[in-house]
Amino acid sequence: METLPDWLTHIGVAYLIIWLISKIDKYDSKCRAYYIFFFIGSVMPDLERILALTAELFQNYQLKEFFIVVFTTSFHTILGVICVSLAMTSFFPNENHKLVYLSFLLGGLLHLLLDGMMWPWSGMGLFLFFPFLTGPRGAFSFHLAWPESLVPLIITSIAVGLTLIIDLIQKKSLISLTPIKNLFQNNKMLKKSAE
Ligand SMILES: [Zn+2]
Repeated sequence: METLPDWLTHIGVAYLIIWLISKIDKYDSKCRAYYIFFFIGSVMPDLERILALTAELFQNYQLKEFFIVVFTTSFHTILGVICVSLAMTSFFPNENHKLVYLSFLLGGLLHLLLDGMMWPWSGMGLFLFFPFLTGPRGAFSFHLAWPESLVPLIITSIAVGLTLIIDLIQKKSLISLTPIKNLFQNNKMLKKSAE
């Protein structure tokens, strides 16, 4: 459960980027179909946690440790994101492969960027260029926030809240009663024609 604030932050930041793109009509119409893939991509490197949590559920702590050591390290690398994006794309054979792949890839790289803001794994960093660059020289991090710190989540939540308010102000027509008004008008017209 300790990863929940991190996941919410990843989801929130991906939403903010999608929201910004959706505000530019030209890009929105082109990218709309791929928002979902970018969104999944942004949590993709942490999908291995599902395996670790399942192992924990069955109290198999050795297996949990194995999943964390093997998958967390390899999924949180540029090569890992490239490979997992490729594997994920294969699940969507009917879509435009290149664009689905690009969406997963960009989402995954965003995940690495955000994780890189923190002090992951006892003050080290992400082994972005693993297996080509290992050891302390291969560990990258901006060291801006402690893992499980609520600060990134709070900042993201405020930004998401602002977008919701802006949407509410801008899209008044969406929540207006237009369909109901039409219904009444049609009823009136029917009554009039009946008279
Ligand atoms: Zn992560």
